[in-house]
Amino acid sequence: MCGRQKTACHLIGSPGAIAASEAKPVSRVRLLVVEDEARLAAALQRGLQAEGFAVDLAGDGVQGLELARHGGYDAMILDVMLPRLSGYRVVRQLRDERHWLPVLMLSAKDGEYDQADGLDCGADDYLTKPFSYVVLLARLRALLRRGGRERPVVLTHGDVELDPAERRVTVAGREVTLTAREFALLEYLIRHAGQVVSKTELLDHVWDASLETAPNAVEVYVGYLRRKIGRDRLETVRGAGYRLAAV
Ligand code: CA
Repeated sequence: MCGRQKTACHLIGSPGAIAASEAKPVSRVRLLVVEDEARLAAALQRGLQAEGFAVDLAGDGVQGLELARHGGYDAMILDVMLPRLSGYRVVRQLRDERHWLPVLMLSAKDGEYDQADGLDCGADDYLTKPFSYVVLLARLRALLRRGGRERPVVLTHGDVELDPAERRVTVAGREVTLTAREFALLEYLIRHAGQVVSKTELLDHVWDASLETAPNAVEVYVGYLRRKIGRDRLETVRGAGYRLAAV
């Protein structure tokens, strides 16, 4: 996956056609799609199968949870609003049981709080409906590359501790209050500690791909975050992006 897809958001349309145009078959990676909107589920299944994925569908949260536990999937696409058990509860339950398969959440809601809720529950990424199928594929591939390694609930980097579930951050033992966006930014940086993270990557993962975001939004929020966690803890790598200072 190369090209950053920060283009305008499209409706799902015909994923099969997009899939055919950039067909890069992936070996039989197994995906679980949990989505109660039958047309969307079928469109996703068709499009993803055209990409070479093996795709199973579940139409409600209980069935999705059961399949995710025992199905041996490589990743899951999980709607938030589901009959019987919400997507939030499905992913929380999986993480509580120490299942680490990558989860990409689909939310009809559109707000940073909802997105943060999904991430707090243990999802790895999210997309807001309507979303671009191309962006969905790109995010999915990124998740699959990272794989289902263990992701502990409290993240630490040096003296910075971030608890996604409790939404708490402490720096050198002192609690720091962050806005949802600052929190998401710090969380992304901690999850990628040791790497330089580009502005584009941050825009893709911390901001919603479907929203128009001011080009300097990343710089502005990096500035806010530095004021709260300490300037030295967040480095600018000129021409490349940002990273947390080595510890
Ligand atoms: Ca739904």
